[in-house]
Amino acid sequence: MRRDSSEDRAQKPEALWKEEDLLDNERVTAMVLILRTSGCWWSKKKGCLMCGYNSASDSSIDLSDILAQLKVAIGRYDNEKFVKVYTSGSFLDRNEIPLEARNAVMDAFPSAKSILFESRPEFVTPEELDALPDGRVQVALGLESADNEILRKCINKGFLVEDYVRAASLLKERGIPMRTYLLLKPSFLTERRAMQDTIRSIAFAAPYSESISINPLNVQKDTMVERLWRRGDYRPPWLFSLVEVLKAGRGLTEKRVFSSPSGAGSLRGVHNCEKCDASFIEAVKRHSFSQDVKEFGDLDCECRTRWQNDLRLQDVMRTSVDVERYLADELLFD
Ligand code: SF4
Ligand SMILES: [Zn+2]
Repeated sequence: MRRDSSEDRAQKPEALWKEEDLLDNERVTAMVLILRTSGCWWSKKKGCLMCGYNSASDSSIDLSDILAQLKVAIGRYDNEKFVKVYTSGSFLDRNEIPLEARNAVMDAFPSAKSILFESRPEFVTPEELDALPDGRVQVALGLESADNEILRKCINKGFLVEDYVRAASLLKERGIPMRTYLLLKPSFLTERRAMQDTIRSIAFAAPYSESISINPLNVQKDTMVERLWRRGDYRPPWLFSLVEVLKAGRGLTEKRVFSSPSGAGSLRGVHNCEKCDASFIEAVKRHSFSQDVKEFGDLDCECRTRWQNDLRLQDVMRTSVDVERYLADELLFD
């Protein structure tokens, strides 16, 4: 039996907000709904090394809870044309979102021209796609990296590039727009290798995708990455690196390549230094809509040298640890 407080929690969405996004090249207000669910099946088995979503899940959440959460969202719905529904896993996993709840979500937002949701590729099957309404959905696939070795060893993703290709091809065949998420700087990669990997992954994912979202790793609580970060073996990517990736991406594809980084400017998220974080984050935001690399034209800061040193020292030392932090500690102990 659940106590009252957890019952209350189960019947409220994990988060709900409005934000700007692009829909058919038009800048629109999107409603973002994060449903609290029983969680991602993979996170219960092994889980991705950077994923802390499991802590937001509750195995006792059932259909009635999800419908109650949806009711809260409907109360806040203001006829937005774009609705994004995320779970702590896969919207198409019937064990996580029962079919009745899925259908209720699809009926809940009558003015929405598009409803975007995320799924792992194993649930993108002809049967699940047949059960969706025509012409109103967008699917997001978290490929993270187009390199199987990185998926296996640095992320523990639990699927391979081939699984993404199968799901993405099926979506393309059905004319369902697809957004690909890529992870910038998984654990155990140097800053330079991380940039190269994301740039290659953009080129790989572009033919399948309507848009590509670059997610710089944000260190979440109770994860393997958090343990590495706490002991100085991991540093989230630099904003300089994110900008390089976005610039390179622009040259690789006509598709929209953008980033709305969570935790940006904090020690757990993508960051440079206190002096320049805000101007970099603003430029990334502007570029997300304009897709014009000129947004990055004037950006610079004295911390560029630290970023360049980080790239160089990691290469020379053949390590992915947070070299700057180790050196600072050394100096402190001198
Ligand atoms: S697939 Fe997504 S929700 Fe599941 S463990 Fe990985 S990052 Fe977390
Ligand atoms: Zn700076």
